[in-house]
Amino acid sequence: MYKGPRHILSENRKTGWSIDLPLKGHCRPTPNCSKACYAKRGPQSWPLPVRKHLWMSQYLAGPDISRLIDECRHLRAVRLSGSGDLLEAHVPNLISLAKECHKTRFWGMTRKVEIAQLINNARLPNLRLLVTVDPTSTLDTWNHRGKLCFGPRHPQDRVPRDSRILAVFPAHYSGRVESGMTRHQKDCPGVWHETSGCLACGRCFSWW
Ligand code: SF4
Repeated sequence: MYKGPRHILSENRKTGWSIDLPLKGHCRPTPNCSKACYAKRGPQSWPLPVRKHLWMSQYLAGPDISRLIDECRHLRAVRLSGSGDLLEAHVPNLISLAKECHKTRFWGMTRKVEIAQLINNARLPNLRLLVTVDPTSTLDTWNHRGKLCFGPRHPQDRVPRDSRILAVFPAHYSGRVESGMTRHQKDCPGVWHETSGCLACGRCFSWW
């Protein structure tokens, strides 16, 4: 029987440390998100990571997150839903986690407005979510009152002039930006390989 991973957090070169979650039963993708999903292919789709993501989701909804608190406490930032998306059942423990690890910034993106509201309404100084939008997002998502990020951006997409949008993610596959892509001023520098990663950039978790 699987007893859980040695390290609860996942790590990758761009994002740093992250809490990775399953796609199935968790994501509510737009048509564009579904077509460009990075976690459906590549390392995050391999059997061992998929098993870990499932375990992580159950753990994050469970009664004891002390191991996770120990792993996060000394880190500068931890990305939420590095793959997949959050469930409402995760919210109470995420709030507890941020309270216990007050020097760590917990940040990330969700496609679910109601989850962003629950997390952001906790008004903790070290816990925030952006809502991700794209041209196929519903009006309800676009009407979110908080901060946004836009992606995937395809070459033909127009990004609205909207001060809520902090970062734009050009569509990219296996580290290569989709061909024909021009530059947008709010593009994530990580996608263009112009920063060593999110910890060096910080745009998505330095806005509050
Ligand atoms: S804009 Fe910066 S912080 Fe946000 S995802 Fe890109 S590299 Fe990371």
